[in-house]
Amino acid sequence: MKFQNIEFDTYLKNYPDANGYFGKYGGSYLSPELQSAMDEITAAYYTICKSTKFISELRRIRREFQGRPTPISHLERLSDKIGTGVQLYVKREDLNHTGAHKLNHCMGEALLAKYMGKKKVLAETGAGQHGVALATAAAYFGLECDIYMGAVDVKKQAPNVARMKILGARVIEVTDGLQTLKEAVDAAFMAYSKDYKDSIYCIGSVVGPHPFPMIVRDFQHVVGVEAREQFLGMTGELPDAVVACVGGGSNSIGIFSGFYNDPVDLYGIEPLGKGAELGNHAASLTYGEEGVMHGFNSIMLKDENGEPAPVYSVASGLDYTSSGPEHAFLRDIGRVKYDVVDDEEAIDAFFELSKMEGIIPALESSHAVAYAMKLARTMGKGSVLINLSGRGDKDMDYILENYGIR
Ligand SMILES: *Cc1c(COP(=O)(O)O)cnc(C)c1O
Repeated sequence: MKFQNIEFDTYLKNYPDANGYFGKYGGSYLSPELQSAMDEITAAYYTICKSTKFISELRRIRREFQGRPTPISHLERLSDKIGTGVQLYVKREDLNHTGAHKLNHCMGEALLAKYMGKKKVLAETGAGQHGVALATAAAYFGLECDIYMGAVDVKKQAPNVARMKILGARVIEVTDGLQTLKEAVDAAFMAYSKDYKDSIYCIGSVVGPHPFPMIVRDFQHVVGVEAREQFLGMTGELPDAVVACVGGGSNSIGIFSGFYNDPVDLYGIEPLGKGAELGNHAASLTYGEEGVMHGFNSIMLKDENGEPAPVYSVASGLDYTSSGPEHAFLRDIGRVKYDVVDDEEAIDAFFELSKMEGIIPALESSHAVAYAMKLARTMGKGSVLINLSGRGDKDMDYILENYGIR
């Protein structure tokens, strides 16, 4: 299928290009030491990802450890309640081991580390979800795991800190600056530049310098491949639309990439938080502009000095200043439409899915559910598939304290 002169039959092979670009977005903007570390990962990945041993080991892990394939569920009661005839479905990444999609790429990254002969994986984490997924993968493979986390986040996210420690990871508290995600990224990159011979940096989404936007997409692609086959098997057709939330953009790229070459509308949903004013949201693809941060060129939210702007969402997994370069590209060519959902709509959808279907969604995923419900109200017929990126247990205390039962 051709879209704006881009040939989607061969898209996954041709994008990114050899330098890691999706059109003008992506690439790698790093110091020489870090660049040589990235070059080593890139070269190793291009070889290892074609090895039948690597592929079959990853498939076995997905089946026997992660519990894949995750099912698709038909939301019959919720579809009836909306009442336009449109049928809603969810891809159940909440049932992937550890309760979210992040383990898909962490298991792949840690397996790559093992094949490269590395002893350690390291990463930063904000809310702790990426740290927990990576600590899980490291425990599975017997790798050391260092997680850098701002001291403020360590206090806020005590349950995830406990999980990482129980899984055997070292949580390194970063006390510079505002003591949150940005400082944790800097500290983790600094540590990596000193230690890249024995370790590999594992990025938590389709962001960062090449090759990570490609590697993480490739490991999340399984979600879209499974979903396409399952949906066809269940209904005999493809969905009319696929909806997913976009933070860095990994769960959405995973499911979208299974449908790029089909006549299916794709919707990426960003968090509007408390509103459209800078600082109140994290809708980078909707309100941002082109710029380089964290080693890659994409669309980002800038403050008046051109620096990464402060961002906010009730869903901590979505509050990132930029999004993956592939999203910026898909936006520009119009293959994916991006839209926003605010905190209130996401909270309503959280309760709606819980009460109508017995599935408590993550607040991140609730953004996609909210949008799919709106879409179903405007469509006359057809079907919408939502990527339910994770389960909401982690959000329950916060919601009860701040919003009460709805
Ligand atoms: C981290 C997270 C997200 C956002 O990350 P993406 O890379 O945009 O997918 C979404 N949902 C859940 C459950 C998460 O933990």
